[in-house]
Amino acid sequence: MHEVKTPKKPLIFYYCVALLILALFNFLAMPWLAQRQIREVDYGTFMSMTERGEVGVVEVQEQENQILFTDKDGTTVYETGMMPDPGLTERLYASGAKFSGVPIERTSPLLSALLSWVLPIAVFIGIGQLISRKMTKNMGGPNAMMFGGMGKSNAKIYVQSSEGIKFSDVAGEDEAKENLAEIVSYLHDPSKYQEIGASMPKGVLLVGPPGTGKTMLAKAVAGEASVPFFSMSGSEFVEMFVGMGASKVRDLFKQAKEKAPCIVFIDEIDAIGKKRDGQIGGNDEREQTLNQLLTEMDGFEGNTGVIILAATNRPESLDPALTRPGRFDRRVPVELPDLKGREAILRVHARKIKAAEDVDYTQIARMASGASGAELANIVNEAALRAVRDGRKLVTQSDLEESIEVVIAGYQKKNAILTDQEKWTVSYHEIGHALVAARQTHSAPVQKITIIPRTSGALGYTMQVDTGNHYLMTKEEIEAKIATLTGGRAAEEIRFGTISTGASNDIEQATKLARAMITRYGMSEDFDMVALETVNNQYLGGDASLACSADTQALIDRKVVELVKESHQKALDILEKDRAKLDELAKYLYEKETITGDEFMAILDA
Ligand code: ADP
Repeated sequence: MHEVKTPKKPLIFYYCVALLILALFNFLAMPWLAQRQIREVDYGTFMSMTERGEVGVVEVQEQENQILFTDKDGTTVYETGMMPDPGLTERLYASGAKFSGVPIERTSPLLSALLSWVLPIAVFIGIGQLISRKMTKNMGGPNAMMFGGMGKSNAKIYVQSSEGIKFSDVAGEDEAKENLAEIVSYLHDPSKYQEIGASMPKGVLLVGPPGTGKTMLAKAVAGEASVPFFSMSGSEFVEMFVGMGASKVRDLFKQAKEKAPCIVFIDEIDAIGKKRDGQIGGNDEREQTLNQLLTEMDGFEGNTGVIILAATNRPESLDPALTRPGRFDRRVPVELPDLKGREAILRVHARKIKAAEDVDYTQIARMASGASGAELANIVNEAALRAVRDGRKLVTQSDLEESIEVVIAGYQKKNAILTDQEKWTVSYHEIGHALVAARQTHSAPVQKITIIPRTSGALGYTMQVDTGNHYLMTKEEIEAKIATLTGGRAAEEIRFGTISTGASNDIEQATKLARAMITRYGMSEDFDMVALETVNNQYLGGDASLACSADTQALIDRKVVELVKESHQKALDILEKDRAKLDELAKYLYEKETITGDEFMAILDA
């Protein structure tokens, strides 16, 4: 997009340069320029000029041992040395010379007045003209900048251009697009809304996890409506000095109103919009900036044509004053894409690369469950990079599958050397997961098992892929998942009679699930439907804090242990019963290193 930059040098810079020039001029050039011509003559010339009556004013400087005198018109100053000459005063008097009361000026009065008054004023006027012309050019008006350029908003202005993002570039997110389409329609024809007396929301808050396309949607609104788009990040408002952020907000809104109808996009608004909690030592600058934002949003009428879009992934931390009707009164959720959405996003990004005809995007979308739009864009790009590395002209299905694994688990560690025993352990561990999953009715099918180490530290992994879309999980499904997670460790126990550190990630995940079942999903008989935990950052990892007494906490811990133990036992039972298959499959994986779900099922069902 076309980007208009605002000037970088503050006004104070030009004033400093002007002062410096003047100071140099006054101290160095002025004395030299203004020096009146002084001619040194010998005493004889002085005597003869006296006799001819050509001497104007005379000044005797005894200390310097010299005489200064001028001619009759006072234009030239002469200087001569002193001589013992007793009759000099009478002769001078007789010749009509004047004896000066004030010292003879070495500088010409006219020139000196000119240089010390007229020139500085001229320089200042010149610089003033220069600055105002510069400002007019950059800011669209001579009064647009404050003194010193302080607190000037540096919002980037994207003027409409042919390559602007459109709604069609944003795949999935149909609900969000529908919501925003109304705003586009308003920007196209505000009169339709004004006639009936409806006013558009002043602000729309886009909330959702990172990388789901919030920024893209905001740009698409501007692109569809063909209006200017001001973009600024919340953190850009917060400056070191209190009050600067507020003045930036003022400046941004001033610019926006001049360019209305237009869209102002504030990314990561939580940087300035956090709740004002009145704590001692709170952030004054942030609060002032927020106050200014609130005031500005109140200050313009709903129908001025300035629409503010803001994005955040921490909506719960925003100040209630910001989200009340009349300010950001509309909230558009931009969620992680579902299966259909993921496929659409993959297809949008695949348009930019050369892919083979037979690529099955549905399958890739299924494998990339839980990925955000940004991650999917990354997966497609990684696949293209891989194709180039291998010297191919087209991106294939296996490129895309491998790049999902790269995004999930990191690159293959080509030179990681596992001992034979370690490789056996990893094989049993992974087959343990896969076998427990396969023998339970509520598990997702196994897609791939590999024991090639990855840069993330994983020595191997089992990929399970759900066939359809999953919005809810039943109690049985979560229990099956916990059992599957414990299956790796169970297989190691059964085969080697000992345990390794390889299960640390499984343990973490199993515990998390078991705890959530009890504290958040109301899936334990003891606590029924009581919320024992609250989630803080829904969109950023979702860390939870306990909301119960210490006694209850101890009970929860006991219940979690019970639940995991039960699942572990279940996994052990499944594997014991299928011991022959466990050995056979582990041996197969040990030899092949990577096997597909189909190969796995073929051996299992044989
Ligand atoms: P956010 O602002 O939500 O963090 P962005 O809008 O900056 O995310 O998205 C980052 C990148 O992810 C975009 O440049 C785009 O390539 C990709 N992306 C995200 N969501 C989508 C989508 N729905 N359709 C197409 N591309 C998307």
